[in-house]
Amino acid sequence: MIAGEETGVLPPPLHSSTDGSFGGALAPLPPQVQDVLRRLHAAGYKAHLVGGCVRDRLLGRPPHDWDVATNARPEQVLPLFVHCVPTGVAYGTVTVFAGEPDRHEPVQVTTYRKEMGSRDLRHPEKVVFSDSVEEDLARRDFTINAIAYDPWAEVLVDPVHGRQDLERRLIRAVGNPDQRFDEDALRLLRAVRLATELRPYHFRLESKTRTAIRRHAPQVEYLSRERIRDEFLRLLAAPDPQWGLWELQDLDLLFRIIPELAATHHFPQDKPGVPTLLDHLIRAVQNVPPDPILRLAALLHDIAKPATATMSPDGQVHFYCHDTLGAEMASRIAASLRLPRSQADRLASLIRMHMVDGTDVGKKALRRWLGQYGERWIRDLLALRRADNIASGVSPDEPNPFIDRLEDLLDEVLHEQKAFRTQDLCLDGRQVMAELGVGPGPMVGAALRYLLEQVLDDPSLNTPDQLRRLLHDWWQRTRSSPVPAVHRRQRGPASTSPPPGLPD
Ligand code: ATP
Ligand code: MG
Repeated sequence: MIAGEETGVLPPPLHSSTDGSFGGALAPLPPQVQDVLRRLHAAGYKAHLVGGCVRDRLLGRPPHDWDVATNARPEQVLPLFVHCVPTGVAYGTVTVFAGEPDRHEPVQVTTYRKEMGSRDLRHPEKVVFSDSVEEDLARRDFTINAIAYDPWAEVLVDPVHGRQDLERRLIRAVGNPDQRFDEDALRLLRAVRLATELRPYHFRLESKTRTAIRRHAPQVEYLSRERIRDEFLRLLAAPDPQWGLWELQDLDLLFRIIPELAATHHFPQDKPGVPTLLDHLIRAVQNVPPDPILRLAALLHDIAKPATATMSPDGQVHFYCHDTLGAEMASRIAASLRLPRSQADRLASLIRMHMVDGTDVGKKALRRWLGQYGERWIRDLLALRRADNIASGVSPDEPNPFIDRLEDLLDEVLHEQKAFRTQDLCLDGRQVMAELGVGPGPMVGAALRYLLEQVLDDPSLNTPDQLRRLLHDWWQRTRSSPVPAVHRRQRGPASTSPPPGLPD
C-alpha cells in the first residue's frame, strides 16, 4: 500500500524542475557543480546530476553532497581538472575540486556504469562502464535515488518513476528488491537510514521492499563493521531516531548491529508507560540532542541492567554497578563498531557517570570535570540525565532539582573563572622554572598540578602574585621533606638518583 492510496491525499507537490528553481540555466546550483558540469559539457561529454542531490532538491531539502554522472571515463575526466583525487577509479569515481578559484569544493564525478552480479554481497562482481544514463540509473538502490537531472535540457531523467515515489513518500528498491539486496547488503541499512532521515517528510519503506529487507536481514553479517557503524550513526543523528530504531528492530536488523540490546527487549520496566527496557532506552535516545555519540550513550546507558539485576528479601529489584559494567559493555560495543578512541572514551565515560548523585557534586567537582572532560561533556551528561527521566515517564516540563541545580552551578563556575587545567593558570612552566631556578623536568609538572589543586579549591588564587607565593611555600616544603613530593607521586620502583631538573 502506498501513502496516496491510504489517505487519498498526496503530500504537497515537489519543487518544479521546469520553472528554474531546480537548476535551470545552472544558476541556482553551487559554483563547484556548475564548474564541473560546464567543463564536462565543453569537452563534449554528457553530464547529469544524480542521486541524493536531485532527490533532496526536489524535496526542498539541502543536499548532503553533489554527485555528477557522465559518459566520460575516469581517465578522460582527470585531465579536465587541476585538482582531482582518483577516489575509486576502478568503480569509475573521481573526486574533483572545482568552483571559484580561491574556494574549490569537492564534487564526485562517476562514469555511467551498469553493474552485473554479486561477488560477496558488498562489491559488484564486475563494473561495466556505459554510455547511457538510463542504464546507470537502473543499477541504483532506490527509485528516489535513481533520478537524474540534465541541466542543459533542463529535464529530469526518471526511468524508474522515482518522482512518483517521492510524491508518495515511498522508499522502493529499483527493480526486484530481493535481487537488489542480494547484490549489496548495505542497501538494507541504507533503506532504513534514508527512511529515518526523511521522516520529517513522512517517508516510509514500500511494503515489498520492507518484506525483502526482513528476509535478507541475516546478510548484514557480511558487511564490514565500519560500514554498519556509519549507517547506524547517521540513523541515530536523524530527527526521529525512535522511528528508525523500532524499524530496525522490527526488520530483524537492530540486534544484528548491537547484539547486547537483545536482552533488553523483553526486560520489564517498573515505569509508567514504559513496558520494557528497550522502550526506555529508545525513548532516551529520542530525548537527547542529535549528536550520534550522545544518542548512542542514551541507547546503551542501561545496557547492563539485565546482567546486574538482583532481588532483595523485601522483593525490591536492584541493579548494583550497572553504570560501571554498562561502561565496560559500551567500550566493547564501541570496539566492535570500530569507533575511534576519543568517541569510545566519551561514550563509556557518559555511561559510567550517568547515575552520579547530584547532591555530591559541588563547584570543586565541577571544576575538575571541566578540566578533565570539558564543558561539552558535562552538558552531554546533564542532557542524558534529563532524557533518562523523560524516558522513565517523567514529564519533560517537570522541574528536576538535580539537573537544574547542576546547570546553575555550572553556569556560575564558568562565569567565575576559566582555570580548569594547568594550561589555564596565570603561571606557566617557564615562569615556574624561572621562579625556582630549575631546568625542565617532572618537578615543573608537579608544581603546576599543585597550583591547579589550590585554584580548583579557590579560583581567586589564580593571580601571578598569589601563585608565586603558593609556589615558593610548596617548594620550601618539598625541599625540606625527606622524600620530595615529585618522588612520592612517581609509580614503579623508587629511583636512587634525583629526577632531571631537581637540584642536587
Ligand atoms: P546522502 O548523500 O544524503 O547520503 P545519497 O543518496 O546521495 O544520500 P550517496 O551515498 O551520496 O547517497 O550515494 C549517491 C547515490 O549513489 C545514491 O543516491 C544512489 O543512487 C547511489 N548509491 C549509493 N550507494 C549505493 C548502493 N549501495 N547501491 C546502489 N546505489 C547506491
Ligand atoms: Mg550523496
